[in-house]
Amino acid sequence: MKILDYNDTQLSKKILSEIEEISLSLGDITIMEFCGTHTHSIFRFGIRELLPENVTMLSGPGCPVCVTDNLDIDYSLALAEIPNTILVTFGDMVKVPGSYKSLQDIKAEGKDIRIVYSCMSALEIAEQNPRKSVIFLGVGFETTAPTVAGAIIEAKRRRIDNFFVYSMHKLTPPAMRSILELGEVKLDGILGPGHVSTVIGSEAWSFIPDNYKMPIAIAGFDTIDILLGIRALLEMIRDKTPRVVNTYLRAVKPKGNKLAQNLMYEVFEVTDSYWRGLGRLPKSGLKIREKYRNFDASIQFPINIENVVRHKLCKCGEVIRGVTSPLECPLFNKVCNPTNPIGPCMVSSEGTCSAYYLYGAK
Ligand code: SF4
Repeated sequence: MKILDYNDTQLSKKILSEIEEISLSLGDITIMEFCGTHTHSIFRFGIRELLPENVTMLSGPGCPVCVTDNLDIDYSLALAEIPNTILVTFGDMVKVPGSYKSLQDIKAEGKDIRIVYSCMSALEIAEQNPRKSVIFLGVGFETTAPTVAGAIIEAKRRRIDNFFVYSMHKLTPPAMRSILELGEVKLDGILGPGHVSTVIGSEAWSFIPDNYKMPIAIAGFDTIDILLGIRALLEMIRDKTPRVVNTYLRAVKPKGNKLAQNLMYEVFEVTDSYWRGLGRLPKSGLKIREKYRNFDASIQFPINIENVVRHKLCKCGEVIRGVTSPLECPLFNKVCNPTNPIGPCMVSSEGTCSAYYLYGAK
């Protein structure tokens, strides 16, 4: 059996020449890649430079850490300050500045903040520390939420009553809908997120061609995946046939992963959510259901957060909406860099500012 190399140079060149040919019949085209992992792959593989001059890639809001608002960061900081508490989180969250501090700052002050790669590790920490409250920061899109749901179900089964989750999970289609409704940027097509679509399915994006007459191509994360997605978009734009095209067939099914969806909705229910840059979006977040309320940190540790401050010069909100390039931010690479991030877009491994910085975008 021949295994396809998804970074094969010859095949990449062939698809690129097809992209070049299709683009000859088109005017200026702007494609938004929704997903932050796509943004970083596109920069890493130099795809922006390889595309024809009339095809522009624009980064979208698909970085869960970046879209987490300062209100939630401040809440997380307040949770970490509760005596006898261990706060557990994914690494990217630690450096994100809240209104006044980051989790890294209060860790340096002696608070017990631990970094894990999976929510199940947080559950183990809770089991090993029965006299402490262990609070996990649930940040992520539909890809992450099922794993957090699984940990909550497991905590209930094992009767681990000192494990809590502060859910900041968000759903991706409402954010894409918001960008299209705002109409601040002229878009011709969407490169759809691969990871998220493995869970929600390619059909979840049908509102984009149906309601906005815009094509969307779901793509994976290697060179050929991304180029195939861009080629599919250009073909649909040329032929005026907006549809959902799934070029990530080895991972994404039309209806997604039912097991993961069932797990997610067993524990979570849809709620409104506040997004950095996009504001409050209806039905765009996940909160823990009443039957799992014992594990809900927002119920078990209610905290009133006041005086939320957002850095006046940081353009993360505009970068997330695609209306401003990181290069237009007055702080980029002057004050703000990965060692001294002013906003989350510079912190996260999926952030647009960090991609511009890491790959020396000009
Ligand atoms: Fe915010 Fe820094 Fe990006 Fe500017 S460069 S938008 S300050 S994260």
